[in-house]
Amino acid sequence: MPEKKIYDWARGFVLDFSLGDGLSKNALSTKRYLSEMKGMFADAAAFEKITAREDPLVYEFYELGVPEDPGNLAFGASITYPGRVGNEYFMTKGHFHTILETAEVYYTLSGEGGMLLENPEGDVSLQPLEPGKAVYVPKRYAHRSINTGKTPLVSFFVFRADAGHNYATIETKGYRKLVVEGPDGRPKMTDNPKWAAP
Ligand code: MN
Repeated sequence: MPEKKIYDWARGFVLDFSLGDGLSKNALSTKRYLSEMKGMFADAAAFEKITAREDPLVYEFYELGVPEDPGNLAFGASITYPGRVGNEYFMTKGHFHTILETAEVYYTLSGEGGMLLENPEGDVSLQPLEPGKAVYVPKRYAHRSINTGKTPLVSFFVFRADAGHNYATIETKGYRKLVVEGPDGRPKMTDNPKWAAP
């Protein structure tokens, strides 16, 4: 819920979207620390090593508290911070929409990274998140932001306000693919061992 009710969802409004002086004063951010993502990174030993000494902020997102009905659009900002667990880059948990048949748009404002997309049937793609470029997240695809750079990855997002978030399957098995830093220092996709055949 927003701290101040400056949003007139019925008659319209203008919002200062600058994160320093604008949006951060007028929206609440939800913060995800590394300790809240236990089991979501492949290298459990590296995870324990980091969380034994610190609990870094992995990502946060700003929401405005839009009424969640199908005629409204929810929008805000997502910030994924730079870092890695082992060779796996910091990322958001990722989610399907509860209403699976709803899409979303991400427009990158700063930083560099990727949007990992995966549908229930196992189709996977990694789309670049680069300043000035928009990624279309199709309906039925889970989506996760991954920061492969050295600065915060900041995106604007907008989706149908009643879509909802479904983390359940991703919190247990994750995605079929991981995005890791390769030996050449560049990002690459690898298979997630948790998805290996039993
Ligand atoms: Mn979404």
